[in-house]
Amino acid sequence: MVEMGEKCSVVGLFNVPEAAKFAYFGLFSLQHRGQEAAGIASSDGEKIHLVKGRGLVTQVFDGEKLELLTGDSAVGHTRYSTAGEDSVLDAQPIFARYDLGQIAVVHNGNLTNAKEVRRELIREGAIFQTFMDTENLIHLIARSQKSQLYDRIIEALHRIEGAYSLIFLSRRKMFAVRDPHGFRPLSIGKLKEGWVVASETCAFDLIGAEYVRDVVPGELVVFEKGKEPRSIQVFEPTPHKCVFEYIYFARPDSLIYGKSVYELRKAMGRELAKEYPVQADMVVPVPDSGVAAALGYAEASGIPFEMGIIRNHYVGRTFIEPTQSIRDLKVKMKLNPIKEVIRGKRLIVIDDSIVRGTTSRKIVGILKEFGAKEVHMRISAPPTTGPCYYGVDTPTKEELIASKMSVEETRRYIGADTLAYLSIEGLLRSVGNDQSYCMACFDGDYPVEKRE
Ligand code: AMP
Repeated sequence: MVEMGEKCSVVGLFNVPEAAKFAYFGLFSLQHRGQEAAGIASSDGEKIHLVKGRGLVTQVFDGEKLELLTGDSAVGHTRYSTAGEDSVLDAQPIFARYDLGQIAVVHNGNLTNAKEVRRELIREGAIFQTFMDTENLIHLIARSQKSQLYDRIIEALHRIEGAYSLIFLSRRKMFAVRDPHGFRPLSIGKLKEGWVVASETCAFDLIGAEYVRDVVPGELVVFEKGKEPRSIQVFEPTPHKCVFEYIYFARPDSLIYGKSVYELRKAMGRELAKEYPVQADMVVPVPDSGVAAALGYAEASGIPFEMGIIRNHYVGRTFIEPTQSIRDLKVKMKLNPIKEVIRGKRLIVIDDSIVRGTTSRKIVGILKEFGAKEVHMRISAPPTTGPCYYGVDTPTKEELIASKMSVEETRRYIGADTLAYLSIEGLLRSVGNDQSYCMACFDGDYPVEKRE
């Protein structure tokens, strides 16, 4: 089985003293992108060192472990996967020794032809150590006959398809790559004499780096000591950048594809207020995912914003749990209304998305139980009708409520007085009205087919 549905974070540092410590802080700020496992590989110029394990960044690393990771370049990863294999073997970075030396790689995204390539490699005699699609790359690089690593990376990229924001670390160089569609984000920052590459710019803020630009879709950037980073445009860019980064996934204090996530989330809320106004006493976000959009909705509608629901931050994301009964309980553990605020009131409740419908149904139920007079659910994204093949963790089509129920049926299921979703046009207006986004989970238009 090849593990699918990984939405993760990557970070890389080059020519930065104590690189692994900066990687640690970078990963700490990217923890929301994956809580299952974390790892860092560093290079001291002669040898690559590796520490990885299951759990949060702060659980995997301590002072002693970071001391082992010597050198002034490093790559790091946090991992989030759906179900199945979650042994430490499936944590990243993936490290290998091969004929050119040593290599470590970190990956955010999902390769759509991973099974096919893996089968071919196994037939040719490759022995796989993990279930990760990323391991294909290591085998392809090791088998290549080219004498330079960057040529081998380019050759391997021509065999893979799908979503990849990758950082490779060799003993003396670092390579950052984004697939031609640019499905997943990847930004470059400057830190004193060195360079930082990360999934989101919030990592730069924490370590004091300055955002320079994004890796262009289809671009390979080579970092080498004593030289300016070298750009190789391996593929013609055909941008299909994941719009869900803006809706839910990224942190609001990040720039994604060069734009403020917070500002765009507010714009989605304003659009939603224009498209689906309703008379009510207050706008209440489902924290944290609905907060920015609720501010936008309140601003555009003139209806006051209230934190009518409080989140317990010590509970992991409800999405992770595999069984329905635990998911139900976890929503209650995580979110609790302030009875005194909501009692007798007409509420507009804002969340960013409905996936299975569990969260909305629970929230509407609790709000009504605690005395809300009316609950008008507003979602700052279109209905999620299809799974993602490019690295966002969504369940199968059958489990997506919007793929089997109409809006009216969903409204009845969640028990709201009214329910409305932002339209696809409204979403496009909010994110700058260009055609460079992937919206496959909303419109079914998949830029790359998934191959079994
Ligand atoms: P559900 O309860 O299955 O309808 O899931 C909806 C909730 O999950 C919303 O509060 C979203 O903010 C959140 N959510 C949406 N997409 C994801 C995702 N890929 N991973 C984790 N949580 C998500």
